[in-house]
Amino acid sequence: MIVVLKKNASPERLKSLVSWLETKGVSVHSSVGEAHTILGLVGDTSALDIDLISALDIVEDVKRVQEPYKNANRKFHPEDTVVPVGNTRVGGGSLTLIAGPCSVESEEQVVGIARAVKAAGATMLRGGAFKPRTSPYSFQGLGARGLDFLKSARAETGLPIVTEIMDIGQLSLFADVDLIQVGARNMQNFDLLKALGRQEKPVLLKRGLSATYEEWLMSAEYVMAGGNENVILCERGIRTFETYTRNTQDLAAVPVLKKLSHLPVIIDPSHASGRSWLVPPMATAAVAAGADGLIVEVHNDPEHALCDGAQSLRPEEFAALAPRLCALHGFLAAGGETK
Ligand code: PEP
Ligand code: MN
Repeated sequence: MIVVLKKNASPERLKSLVSWLETKGVSVHSSVGEAHTILGLVGDTSALDIDLISALDIVEDVKRVQEPYKNANRKFHPEDTVVPVGNTRVGGGSLTLIAGPCSVESEEQVVGIARAVKAAGATMLRGGAFKPRTSPYSFQGLGARGLDFLKSARAETGLPIVTEIMDIGQLSLFADVDLIQVGARNMQNFDLLKALGRQEKPVLLKRGLSATYEEWLMSAEYVMAGGNENVILCERGIRTFETYTRNTQDLAAVPVLKKLSHLPVIIDPSHASGRSWLVPPMATAAVAAGADGLIVEVHNDPEHALCDGAQSLRPEEFAALAPRLCALHGFLAAGGETK
């Protein structure tokens, strides 16, 4: 971090600022110039409050030269993180295919879809039991009963299950869930993130609707700072001026996040596009961009789905898409060589 002092900074104020900064665990290199004095802060500056330093009367400007996230930063962890989830692993060169309904509607529905997506090549089952709906009058999910139906689907198919937690008070219900999803609307629910950091289940952290990469990584940092390193990042579309699609899929997130961080990055083309016919091309583009996996909504009867039917693939559409994604992933992994 670089701190530029104002011209009239007195030597006494400079001295007291330097000793205060040193008590924060950083070493301070000062360079006294004609016009300005510049302080170079070396060491772990992640806990320093940049706004507080900027507000000091002798400070002209403060610049971070290091990212504020540490655990999620690739600089401190050059190898890709591979997150174990049940009997599968996310990251490290494999392609994770998570598929299932937006919300669990009945045992029969989720078990049927689980069987179909498993046969098509899915490696994990998704399904919301607690649903974050824009309207309080919309279907809110089956709650704890939905979690039980997901577990039945896992018992039937062997697929690990991922489902969304909405509130810290639900955590005890998630003890037997394989991967805990934090939805876009909760990306900055810091108390929830801290609680997930104190437990061992891996976390699928969706990007907030208007979150920058840095804000998203800081949310991952909340979980990791608590001791839980098993975080998977999921881009699910962001708000832009475009209204044709439900959101705008930000595919640059894949190479950027993989450069900044060692965490696996997956793409949700369903919530990003809001239209089922856009899901196959966007899923294909995500694999081409280097995503570690996809989370795709699949419903046996999209017209009558209780949530997000318009963006849900039918099982047979997912069955047509999955092998194409695997083939493209294999082709790219082989360096683009055809056999
Ligand atoms: C979901 O996965 O069904 C969901 C609600 O996602 P998001 O938080 O990305 O809107
Ligand atoms: Mn949904």
